[in-house]
Amino acid sequence: MFNYQPERILIDSAVSKEPLTRQICSRFPNVPTYEVKNYNWHKDSSANDPLKNPLSQGKKTLHLKQFKGKSIKACPGFSDNLVCCNYFTLDLIENCPFECTYCILQAFLNKPVITVHANLEDILKQVWQITSAQPETLFRIGTGEHSDSLALDKTFGINQHVIKFFSNIPNALLELKTKSNHVEHLLELPHGGKTVISWSVNPQEIIKKEEHKTATLDERLKAAKMASDAGYKVAFHFDPMIDYPDWEKGYQRLVEQIVDNVSSDRIAWISFGTLRYISSLKSIVDERFPNSRVFLGEFIPGVDGKMRYLKKIRQRLYRNVQNKVEKLAPDVPTYLCMESSHLWEKSMPNSPKTSPEMEGVLLRSLEKRYTKETKCLI
Ligand code: SF4
Repeated sequence: MFNYQPERILIDSAVSKEPLTRQICSRFPNVPTYEVKNYNWHKDSSANDPLKNPLSQGKKTLHLKQFKGKSIKACPGFSDNLVCCNYFTLDLIENCPFECTYCILQAFLNKPVITVHANLEDILKQVWQITSAQPETLFRIGTGEHSDSLALDKTFGINQHVIKFFSNIPNALLELKTKSNHVEHLLELPHGGKTVISWSVNPQEIIKKEEHKTATLDERLKAAKMASDAGYKVAFHFDPMIDYPDWEKGYQRLVEQIVDNVSSDRIAWISFGTLRYISSLKSIVDERFPNSRVFLGEFIPGVDGKMRYLKKIRQRLYRNVQNKVEKLAPDVPTYLCMESSHLWEKSMPNSPKTSPEMEGVLLRSLEKRYTKETKCLI
């Protein structure tokens, strides 16, 4: 695994005295820092160097920013036409040092620098206010929406604060989603069983070709074992599943490798989702990763406008891996990410018609298996 090293750190004046700003800057004593107001990437000379790809160059700038919005939001996958799991996202970092060929952030973020929301105390205070206003709701809140939750954490040390904070919220579970193996610094923390560390997984041949700079599958599974031995719940996301020549063997083997490494009673959930992308991503990937084979095949636009494999291909992929999980880890709840109820019917044992129904299935499983951490539901 590589270590991230920025070329410069830009600090919003409003967060120059924040404890997190001091903490992060102290980890890069030789990197120049600049105080900025209203930083605008499009006016930055780094953005306009014709010899450098702005998406690659941008990641070398670390921007410590004041976040002013609402701290937790409904997952953007939520749509009336799709069955979703009623998940919330907490944005602490935007952009990611890894280079997955299919990464949607390449087409989505309006500036390619790595941005950290440095007013962490304000952000967490808001989380407290929102969760305590609904004490009978179990909030599942993840930080891996606009970045990888742990890719930078060994150096930045943000999650030590966040994990401790969530250990005191009675009605929330924090999910840290990653393709790294950076967990050693978290093992001794008083997490109170309220953090789920989850891994996005794929067969090693896909990781090698399409998930550059990330941890190998073996490294991810070893890290998952370490985390579960330290009392964390873990989870796995088969997402994005790729339709490639050896897919059947690859994904079946992947389920076996997971249960060989981690006891299934520590696995909080497993999700499945196939490759999906917005059409503007394709030309970016063709330019940045000409050897990628990720967009080979036939795709059709879904109800949310994103391109997806044909339904019969998605069903085949889901059914195959679902059957294997059912056999090897029957108590672990599984769900599809961003799919219609029709797809659920054809591929999964439960066929919830609506998002609340789907969330109910997941919550009942959590309640049964982790009673102490889900007391708010009783
Ligand atoms: S780990 Fe996630 S956020 Fe990072 S490059 Fe890969 S897909 Fe994008």
